[in-house]
Amino acid sequence: MPHHTPLIATIAVGFVLAYLLGALATRLRLSPLVGYLLAGILVGPFTPGFVADKALAHELSEIGVMLLMFGVGLHFSLKDLMAVKHIAIPGALVQIAVATLLGMGLAWTLDWSLGAGLVFGLALSVASTVVLLRALEERQLLDSRRGKIAIGWLIVEDLVMVLTLVLLPALAGVLGGEAQGGAEAGAWLPLLSTLGKVSLFIALMVLVGRRLLPWLLERTAGSGSRELFTLAVLAIAMGVAYFAAQVFDVSFALGAFFAGMMLNESEHNHRAAEDSQALRDAFAVLFFVAVGMLFDPSILLQQPLAVLATFLIIVFGKSLAALAIVRAFGKPLSTALTISASLAQIGEFSFILVALGVGLGLLPEAGRDLILAGAILSILVNPLCFGLIDRLQPWLDRRERTAPADASGSAEAADDIPAIHATEHAILIGHGRVGSRISLRLHEEGVPLVIIEDNRARAQELREEGFSVVIGNAASTQVLELAKVAAARWLLIAIPNALEAGQIAVHARAANPGLDIIARAHFDAEVEYLSEHAADLVVMGEREIARVMFARLGLNSPQQRAPGSSAA
Ligand code: AMP
Repeated sequence: MPHHTPLIATIAVGFVLAYLLGALATRLRLSPLVGYLLAGILVGPFTPGFVADKALAHELSEIGVMLLMFGVGLHFSLKDLMAVKHIAIPGALVQIAVATLLGMGLAWTLDWSLGAGLVFGLALSVASTVVLLRALEERQLLDSRRGKIAIGWLIVEDLVMVLTLVLLPALAGVLGGEAQGGAEAGAWLPLLSTLGKVSLFIALMVLVGRRLLPWLLERTAGSGSRELFTLAVLAIAMGVAYFAAQVFDVSFALGAFFAGMMLNESEHNHRAAEDSQALRDAFAVLFFVAVGMLFDPSILLQQPLAVLATFLIIVFGKSLAALAIVRAFGKPLSTALTISASLAQIGEFSFILVALGVGLGLLPEAGRDLILAGAILSILVNPLCFGLIDRLQPWLDRRERTAPADASGSAEAADDIPAIHATEHAILIGHGRVGSRISLRLHEEGVPLVIIEDNRARAQELREEGFSVVIGNAASTQVLELAKVAAARWLLIAIPNALEAGQIAVHARAANPGLDIIARAHFDAEVEYLSEHAADLVVMGEREIARVMFARLGLNSPQQRAPGSSAA
């Protein structure tokens, strides 16, 4: 192969390694982010073997950041924040201050400048949205009160970081880095000019973008072309980010964040999020790979104590601060512990911040390596923190039940996961086009039913209608356990993805050998696959349609052609 194709090589090797290591991490019950970062370290210049193109990886990761921030904007809801503002705002601000001071303390012992300490401390203070949302989702805590507080807290942290990203270039000169815009002495000038440009951009977005962008999306949706709709979403995300950077000198990240937030107002925001999900995921992976590439593992040997101190600040310093604040607000210990564990890690924002800090000459490269080491370690131990809380739960329950001051809190704790005590019940997975036709009927027939649904809004509505619902991906054994799969009689897998359905069936069979598993398929190959993967009966929608059409002709039903399938 004679051509020089560094872009293809970087993307291909990045994806393949990230996939392999991400899958391995998931198998080991770790966050896949750890796998992606390790993949980056492997293709980086500090480890032997293939070295990906650094400049290209950097540019790809910029796209990752844009799309990540676009996603944050799409999900940013002022309403969610307002509901928990009395605790989330002061909590996040105090915690940021504590973490920043701790980081500055460490920077001081390492003889770094004040500016370096500030960037380092701020980078330690913000948790990763990706890690937090995933941890809460796995534990069914997204819709719980404590989950909402943690998310609100994170939104405040994100907002402070967005502001920091905007202001840092303007303040770089004052803080001892490279002054931006050629102004050295008048530090206030670049600051004022940055603030002016940002305000102008925000005003433009709020006044024009808020109407124009959703309108554009609605017009495109009206055309009926799925492809054009997806293209519109991506054009808006990347277009606004690029335009913001070129015209207003704002970061790509902020531009994309606003683009997302403006679309949040559109009634098509869910579809916009769904349609751009695959691309956002893919580039987010490349972002983590690119970050891993920058990591020099020799820091672990050269400065083990500094790495340890960084890790301790993230996992203990920050969480103890959060714990104290939440307790000070009179919340029960279990709530405080969950919120602390959620925030005891750092991720994408920290990487963006240190990259900027190093670029501006504020932070030494060792600072970035410490942050990367701290992030990888903290993401690694995060599930352990939650595991510890799970272990403590019986003790916490007893303690909160006996402590009268926490009475309101224990009600809240009990509220978190509506307990499901079903036996001999049916479990219905997916409440979409198929599932919704089954649930009502089962209800009317008096069959005890537990629904598993991973679309939060849909699951919430079902709960309001009085159904027992577990929110989450049924492919997770934990989610199946919450639906009491071991005690169930039937499992109805009504989701369209056969690969996922096969995985669910295998897990369920392992937990309950006597379970009657009925699955949905759309292709002959899927029927075969599901029959081989523990399903007792596979119903193929297309075949049933053909059967009914044929029956209408008044003739006998045609021969079944594939094994394992059967008429419903
Ligand atoms: P439909 O394709 O209209 O039948 O909808 C399928 C439904 O199943 C949607 O509501 C999805 O949110 C839901 N769903 C898909 N995959 C899963 C999964 N792995 N676990 C739980 N719910 C799922």
